[in-house]
Amino acid sequence: MGDATDKQVYFFEQGNADGRTGLKWLLGGKGANLAEMANIGLPVPPGFTVTAQVCKEFFEKGNEWPAGLDKAVDENLERLEEVTGRDLGDTEDPLLVSVRSGAAQSMPGMMDTILNLGLNDDAVQGLAKQSGDERFAWDCYRRFIQMFGDVAMGVDHDLFEEELANQREKAGVKYDSQLSADDLKEIVEKFKDIYAENTGEEFPTTAKQQLVRAIDAVFSSWNNPQAIKYREINDIKGLLGTAVNVQTMVFGNMGLTSFTGVGFTRNPATGENKLYGEYLINAQGEDVVAGIRTPKSVSELPEEDLSDFPESDISAEKAQELYSDMYDQLVDIKHKLEKHYEDMQDFEFTAQQGELYMLQTRTGKRTADAAVKIAVDMHEEGLIDERTALLRIEPKQVEQLLHKRFDIDAKSDAEDEGRMMATGLPASPGAAVGKIALTADDAEEMAAEEEARAEEGEAAGVILVREETSPEDIGGMDASMGVLTARGGMTSHAAVVARGMGKCCVAGCGEVQPDPDAGTVTIAGKEFEEGDIISLDGSTGEVFEGDIELVEPELAGAFGQLMEWTEDFREIGVWTNADTPEDAQRAKEFGAEGIGLCRTEHMFFEEDRITPVRKMMLNAPEVRRLRKSIQEAKDAKQQAAGKEREQHEQRIQELQEELEGPEGLLNSALEAIEPEQREDFEGIFEAMDGMPVTIRLLDPPLHEFLPNEPDAQAELAEDMGWDQEDVAERVSELKEFNPMLGHRGCRLGMTYPDIYKMQVRAIMEAAVNCAENGIDVQPEIMIPLVGSSEELRVCREAAEEVCQDVLADASTDVPYRIGTMLEIPRACIRADDVAEHADFFSFGTNDLTQMTFGYSRDDVGTFVPEYVEREVLPSDPFQVLDQEGVGELVEMGIERGRDTKPDLKVGICGEHGGEPSSVKFCHRAGMNYVSCSPFRVPVARLAAAQVAIEVAQEE
Ligand code: PEP
Ligand code: MG
Repeated sequence: MGDATDKQVYFFEQGNADGRTGLKWLLGGKGANLAEMANIGLPVPPGFTVTAQVCKEFFEKGNEWPAGLDKAVDENLERLEEVTGRDLGDTEDPLLVSVRSGAAQSMPGMMDTILNLGLNDDAVQGLAKQSGDERFAWDCYRRFIQMFGDVAMGVDHDLFEEELANQREKAGVKYDSQLSADDLKEIVEKFKDIYAENTGEEFPTTAKQQLVRAIDAVFSSWNNPQAIKYREINDIKGLLGTAVNVQTMVFGNMGLTSFTGVGFTRNPATGENKLYGEYLINAQGEDVVAGIRTPKSVSELPEEDLSDFPESDISAEKAQELYSDMYDQLVDIKHKLEKHYEDMQDFEFTAQQGELYMLQTRTGKRTADAAVKIAVDMHEEGLIDERTALLRIEPKQVEQLLHKRFDIDAKSDAEDEGRMMATGLPASPGAAVGKIALTADDAEEMAAEEEARAEEGEAAGVILVREETSPEDIGGMDASMGVLTARGGMTSHAAVVARGMGKCCVAGCGEVQPDPDAGTVTIAGKEFEEGDIISLDGSTGEVFEGDIELVEPELAGAFGQLMEWTEDFREIGVWTNADTPEDAQRAKEFGAEGIGLCRTEHMFFEEDRITPVRKMMLNAPEVRRLRKSIQEAKDAKQQAAGKEREQHEQRIQELQEELEGPEGLLNSALEAIEPEQREDFEGIFEAMDGMPVTIRLLDPPLHEFLPNEPDAQAELAEDMGWDQEDVAERVSELKEFNPMLGHRGCRLGMTYPDIYKMQVRAIMEAAVNCAENGIDVQPEIMIPLVGSSEELRVCREAAEEVCQDVLADASTDVPYRIGTMLEIPRACIRADDVAEHADFFSFGTNDLTQMTFGYSRDDVGTFVPEYVEREVLPSDPFQVLDQEGVGELVEMGIERGRDTKPDLKVGICGEHGGEPSSVKFCHRAGMNYVSCSPFRVPVARLAAAQVAIEVAQEE
């Protein structure tokens, strides 16, 4: 590095350059690639690059040039004159240069550029002669003074524009292009006056003076507010500064044999292996960008006959010959670029009077579809190996390929029409269009109506819009195409459930204010009614007014191929979080090798189950209380004698009678639920034949299931023969101040053992039934939210008893495992003790993150986005595992657990299990598998393959 930074200026010309791509950190992306292109013999106009290290020293010296730079610039300018055979300021054929910024990471349009440098009163004559177009020469000159004044010297741009307007009026014309050479000469004089008045000095006439100012301006633009902001937003850190590229000007606007354009070596939207791009005849790069004239597709270049230019004196045949030759040259360049860079490149080109030049190249941005196709095609073409192909794809991009998406053109039209209203968190990918529903019931009703209408062929979907969702909304979510919430983070209820369902969700969108009572919702200040259509993009978090055309996910051939390759490298298992046979099936199709988390509570919400579930919840506490009292009375009886003993006996009898009611209700509820659960599990075991299925026992706080609405309370009261007030009272008794830290997880198993026992029985009976039907079942019973090993010991013992009981009556043995989730910091710290009673560990990193940071996972939307923006946090820790903090607990948990049981199987089932950087962490931490929602299975497989390749490369 030391030597490279001593050299302040790097020269380049076709076939020979001091720099190369590897010096991007020093020469910037543009400078390094100009050098590289020159080295491989592409037609690059000669020039030189002042390094970013010089920029750094410039700032360190208080905006002064470091020693030696002046001499180096002089030498390089001389060399440039020699190589081009042209002199700066020459009155016959002057050398003109562009001065452009270029940092190691692209910051498009953020820093300064100056074109046509070198023009003065002499050189303008030369340019007129050389181009044979006086008007063109003077137009270049006036543009240069304007650009130099504005960019390098900070003269107000409007002053020049006002003068131009004056001249147009004076000449009686509408456009600048209609101004004559004489008009432009006058303008140049006026512009010089404006320059002098506003800078206090004459316009500099020597190229060196101009160049010094221009280089200073480009350096300084590194620290202009928009560049600083851009680096902040795009997390660009640790660069030296910007390099400055001084390059011979070539003009795409020197008549009809000149043109300018941009190209891609393959189609960046589809990946098709064909030169792609646009060109504009007789134009400069800025005309293409400004969109004043519509460029033509490069594929039309060979047929270009200049018929759009009736004044042309070139014959159609001649034009076609010339343009077709240029097209061939571009195709040749495409091949050379790809062969050299081994990746899709984008590039800028200009033809000046029939000579083609390359002005820039870099790795081209592409869509997910294109990325996959290009990687697979390039492998087939022998350009790259499988490892490189796999490493080329952003795992996150893959997710886009698995969901319905907006048609690209339709989305861009909607943006142009100003229909993009607000942005929330991209909580669950995919896109959805539908009618607004403001309650879960409305959503279900509207979805049913739409379904009926579907038979007539004109149905719309439904989008559930809520302040936030709760378990009671499950039915409505299920009936909807997408979910939009005003509050909540990436692991809020809406986000987790929607991801599990593979449904599009935008969460925590602060600009959404639903008012279900009024039947309206305000989005970014505009009021909508229930039934109005909106569109959501769950991959970007955008909310649109009206509808946008959707396209189906395509598991294209290339994508399948890429996924096959992951299997050759991946070492860590990829399982799925699935609650239904359908989800399990889908995940299997995407390559899941087991279920790492089946959340049983989701099964409780189905319409025909919620009543017995509620009955169970309402009666379990009473049963617990009475049983405890009976036990106390029995204990007391043991100690007592005579009359006192009789009193205790009587008390026991009374309590037992009292217990009969609630226990009867509890048991009848459990009996109603058990067969339903058993059926659920049978479906899942069947779907996952031959693979492990991890079923978690009940986890959420009981009150989440309870009826809050008076109607629901009345219904339940009638069912149980209670008064409605009693139901209401019981519901309110079960409310907790901090339910997430309250009576949930294995704490329920400890206090209401009947519930866990019922679930374990359902699991094991289902397993036995399946095994008896020849299905290879591998049940893994998971006990959640363990904080102390004693909790696990007690719950395990109860579960084992049930398992043994079921197996005693079975005709076949079913091996099962009982393990636990590590989601409380204490469990990680005491993992050695916990492992004594666990056959496996599964890290519940949602809760572990919540409890390590002390952030409520349902309330992070209120401050975490700001934390990320202010760089207090590098990212939302509920999306991207906090490797430094939470990750350390994970590593500790694995290490201590395996101290006790060296072969302990360890996985992760928090949302991080499908996030690429977290998957990579899990591999490095030595986990056996990651588990994620079905739609993220391919993402996890790719990330898993990548980390295995990366680790091997490090070794
Ligand atoms: C977790 O906490 O990471 C987990 C998977 O459980 P849940 O999200 O259901 O609390
Ligand atoms: Mg949890």
